[in-house]
Amino acid sequence: MTSLRARPGPDVRLRRVVVGALDTNCWAVHAAGSPQALLVDPGGEPERILGAVADLQITAIVLTHAHFDHVLAVPDVAAALGAPVLAHPDDAPVWPHELGTLHRLGHFDAGTATADLLAAGHPLRPDPRRRLWDGRVDRPVHDGEVLAVGPLRVQVRHTPGHTPGGVSLLLPGGAGRPGHLLTGDTLFPGGPGLTGWPLSDFRTILASVGELLDLPGDTVVHPGHGPDTTVGAERPALTGWAARGW
Ligand SMILES: [Zn+2]
Ligand SMILES: [Zn+2]
Repeated sequence: MTSLRARPGPDVRLRRVVVGALDTNCWAVHAAGSPQALLVDPGGEPERILGAVADLQITAIVLTHAHFDHVLAVPDVAAALGAPVLAHPDDAPVWPHELGTLHRLGHFDAGTATADLLAAGHPLRPDPRRRLWDGRVDRPVHDGEVLAVGPLRVQVRHTPGHTPGGVSLLLPGGAGRPGHLLTGDTLFPGGPGLTGWPLSDFRTILASVGELLDLPGDTVVHPGHGPDTTVGAERPALTGWAARGW
């Protein structure tokens, strides 16, 4: 049955840079021994991100979604790296919505954390010395698409609910190696991402999370904020999340 044996994929390397007022995880993903890398969610502090990937060749910048805390460094980082920006087309309304909130309230909406962050002195506004993203995406990505990054093959999964065009990125495992899943704000340790915004939907995110939790249990989940988890650790809680309604 040797034909059924999984061929080992390249060894995946992930680098995390925690940026901005919401401690967003910005990720660089590449294969061991290969400098070609994807950069995911440059949410702020472009100099720190650029410093962390200075020895890599960033072939594309992928946005898991277009909330402010995942995109504020896009213009500076894209210009410095000369890399195209990739996102799902269904997220097109999200950045205009973010800017509308900024215009209306004078600051971005960070959900339930907004009041505490403002009180702690985070302005939740774009730095006026930096370029503001114009929302332009160089190339749309779609569910099932595979992005070639050197020897890596990165699968795009459309995982709507937190936003309409949210995506997760899967690096399949095999041959004893776990897969890796970058979930943005779709799946965290302890539950799905928040769905309190006008463009969010709880039932939709629950369906997206349910599909992700069908992946092999040893798949390592790397969320858009905070620590990692695994599919196997979160899967038993899914029915409980559905019952609690958030
Ligand atoms: Zn978000
Ligand atoms: Zn976020």
